[in-house]
Amino acid sequence: MEEKKVIECHCENCGNEANMTVTCKLVDVVEPSGAKVKKQLETRVCTECGNEANMIIDFGK
Ligand SMILES: [Zn+2]
Repeated sequence: MEEKKVIECHCENCGNEANMTVTCKLVDVVEPSGAKVKKQLETRVCTECGNEANMIIDFGK
């Protein structure tokens, strides 16, 4: 499942308040304990400078 949206936020690379394309998808992450968990991976691409940033979102425990 993949979802795209555009949000306005502060870009750490160019320092602008810029529109960023955010792609969200669920990925399997293997924890140090060996357990496989689903987490949300967010990829943000800045429309100003093209900077890409990946963020793993924890669903909380
Ligand atoms: Zn930027």
